[in-house]
Amino acid sequence: MSRRDAFDILPEVRAEEIAERIALVRERIRRAAERAGRSSEEITLVAVTKGVEAERIRAAIAAGLTHFGENRVQEAERKIAEINAPITWHLVGHLQSNKARKAAVLFHVIHSLDSVRLAQRLDRIAGEQGRTIPVLLQVDLAGEPTKFGIPVDQLLDVARACRPFRHLAVRGLMAIPPYFEDPERVRPYFRRLAECLRELNAREIFEPPLKDLSMGMSHDFDVAIEEGATLVRIGRAIFGERQP
Ligand SMILES: *Cc1c(COP(=O)(O)O)cnc(C)c1O
Repeated sequence: MSRRDAFDILPEVRAEEIAERIALVRERIRRAAERAGRSSEEITLVAVTKGVEAERIRAAIAAGLTHFGENRVQEAERKIAEINAPITWHLVGHLQSNKARKAAVLFHVIHSLDSVRLAQRLDRIAGEQGRTIPVLLQVDLAGEPTKFGIPVDQLLDVARACRPFRHLAVRGLMAIPPYFEDPERVRPYFRRLAECLRELNAREIFEPPLKDLSMGMSHDFDVAIEEGATLVRIGRAIFGERQP
């Protein structure tokens, strides 16, 4: 028999079990923060709900979560309307330019800003709406051709180009490192993203300085927190395996 804890990825977790799973994830966050000499209050748990229907999202809200992430604009549009609760919605997936207007309306934070062109577009839309959108620059740490994100060697230029956009508040960096079964093998990528943030801050590109590191998913968020994550994006450890 397998032990049931947040380290196992269960097939689809039932609504009644979600509060317990969230408590286990919170405990892992607390322990990882403690190991790193950090306060767990610096870390925001973003529950990633792609493929998760409203009933189970409501169970997570009932358990006290207020930050949720989606990776597709279309799926999010339907769900955000259905949930209709005071939630902070994060866009964690790739954003196509032609969906920028919709995304700007639906999401409170965009983690996947990966080009100057997209930044320009979001800035214009946010300006029309008279608001400022908090964003993170997504960095492609591994240079994988299939991954989105700004290559590390272009980050400084993209960051500089984003500086004039008055309706975007650049808060930090996000990455989706390669998957390794052993989370220790992901540690160098998390460390690299934290270095990128320090480099941008040392050059005083943004004012106020960048603070957020969106990194760490179900199988590696403990290590991400040890390396400085402030936003962890967690799906399966809370909701179980997604339907294919
Ligand atoms: C799905 C997803 C997550 C959550 O992944 P889990 O392995 O389910 O925790 C985090 N970030 C992004 C960008 C995702 O698409």
